[in-house]
Amino acid sequence: MRFLGGYPPGVLDQVRALIAAGGLGDHLARRYPAPHTVQTDRALYDYTSDIKQEYLRSAPPLHKVGYDARLDTAQHALGLHTAISRVQGGKLKAKKEIRVASLFKEAPADFLRMIVVHELAHLKESDHNKAFYRLCEHMEPRYHQLEFDTRLFLAWREVRSPPIVAATERPSII
Ligand SMILES: [Zn+2]
Repeated sequence: MRFLGGYPPGVLDQVRALIAAGGLGDHLARRYPAPHTVQTDRALYDYTSDIKQEYLRSAPPLHKVGYDARLDTAQHALGLHTAISRVQGGKLKAKKEIRVASLFKEAPADFLRMIVVHELAHLKESDHNKAFYRLCEHMEPRYHQLEFDTRLFLAWREVRSPPIVAATERPSII
């Protein structure tokens, strides 16, 4: 399963069964009914800054935050954090930037929170180590559950979208 590598085989069997029974979409909709209104780069900047202000005040300031349509699940990159270092007035300053895959505009509110928390934690820890996940859980105690369910959501998106068929190729009904 493309988005669920690293999870125990028993868990993957349950997911496969849920997909086969056509129940994954309902399962997710029941657990995560709330959409969100964070639809613009400006709104995403404010949303991210609020979480940072509450939990990660000591982390370096954010220069830029935005959605990026080029980030896609095909590259397995849902979010990106970059630091561009520049010498400014004799001091080395890093400009921190966070980009979030545009698909999160249509994701449940909790999944947007998960990816933002993930990228914020990278302001302090570049690797996915214990300290990194501690930071994630500090900002969002349900972090691990949300990450797993976000992966389920991605798997469901892939199952749900049928391959695009051109109008001329549509099977005739009569
Ligand atoms: Zn990461």
